[in-house]
Amino acid sequence: MTTAIENVRVFDGSAVGEPRRVVFGDRVSGEDTGVADEVVDAAGGVLLPGLVDAHVHVVRGRADLEDLARRGVTTGLDMGAWPREFVDEMRSQKGVARILSATVPAVGAGGHHARMPGFPAEGVVTGPDEARAFVGRRVADGADYVKIVTEAAPPEGMDQATVNALVEAAHDHGLLVVAHAVTTGAFRVAAEAGVDVSTHAPLDAALDDDTIARMREIGMVSVPTLTMMEGTAKLFGGNGFRYEHARDSVTAFRAAGIRVLAGTDANSAPGAPFAPVHGESLHHELALLVAAGLTPLEALAGATSLPARVFGLDDRGVIAEGKRADLVLLDGDPTADVAATRNVKGVWIAGERVQLQSQVDEPAVEPSVPRGGKRAAADVSTGRPGVEVLHDHDSLSRPGRRGDAAFQDDGARLHRRVRR
Ligand SMILES: [Zn+2]
Repeated sequence: MTTAIENVRVFDGSAVGEPRRVVFGDRVSGEDTGVADEVVDAAGGVLLPGLVDAHVHVVRGRADLEDLARRGVTTGLDMGAWPREFVDEMRSQKGVARILSATVPAVGAGGHHARMPGFPAEGVVTGPDEARAFVGRRVADGADYVKIVTEAAPPEGMDQATVNALVEAAHDHGLLVVAHAVTTGAFRVAAEAGVDVSTHAPLDAALDDDTIARMREIGMVSVPTLTMMEGTAKLFGGNGFRYEHARDSVTAFRAAGIRVLAGTDANSAPGAPFAPVHGESLHHELALLVAAGLTPLEALAGATSLPARVFGLDDRGVIAEGKRADLVLLDGDPTADVAATRNVKGVWIAGERVQLQSQVDEPAVEPSVPRGGKRAAADVSTGRPGVEVLHDHDSLSRPGRRGDAAFQDDGARLHRRVRR
């Protein structure tokens, strides 16, 4: 099956070109043989590489992947899902967003992540001597990267030595490390340990210059999930926890040359404090990134070429000969106004056209079922696949537990870097 899109302006990563014809099967063709099974007239629309959401949780199963695909998100980086059978099943779905997964995240023993209904005990790491076994289990699970929750101080969260040991073990296996950090103290732990990617952004204060300098020094990449921070701050603000702190940190990342990826924390998890909608929320995230100071071009790179490069997805992120035909056809030019990404007219995944839902104006985000609500209870009893999302409103409501004590580390520094 080959498709030709005619009269389309192709986004090449830095600009939108003159109208032309693009031909593809499951990969983008280098030459136009003139014949195609299906011909689409783009009427001057813009063609983007399929979007990447660098922080999702697949909970419902294929339905989440369909929602991503319909809104142009052709790759989702799952940041916590289990059991292995469920993750494997989600990886093998065809015609919908493709996912990578961290599988089970590493969490401290005393935090509320460890107490989440259904959270697997194997995710709890109590000391540095357990780090290698944890990472070994992730390797056995086929994890694409390792997720660590660097949150709060002991006894709730992991201490510096434990985070260091996890990073070292993951890097020994050639795996990137993604650290969940919602407070400035947690960011310092992550930066000190040399994690590759931070996710979320601090709500307690904008990040200090020293931490940002350290992040730049080690080449850390940020997935701030401003959508999630905005929703969390609205629901659980107070005690100085404000969305503006997260936003200002992103502004500072950009000024410091720290790469910023688009990620939403999209989830449909029982008990999650806030549930960004799969697919739809990425368009909101792009708008928030631009409002935080990124240019539309930088925001788009953060949802296409940059995540592909950071996570080693060499077959996507750009429209070029031989790359996967993960494509999004838009009405309007998102390099001029990033809101144009919302005008999705067509989506192809590995050359297969995605059925778009009828034009329903969904809200960017919707409140989830309250913690401990009906869905959560039902899910515990049925042993539904689990998910780790931002469950930090408990610690956010306790000033003085911001992870700073965890910064009293053993001085160990990790210099081993893995692929960028
Ligand atoms: Zn998450």
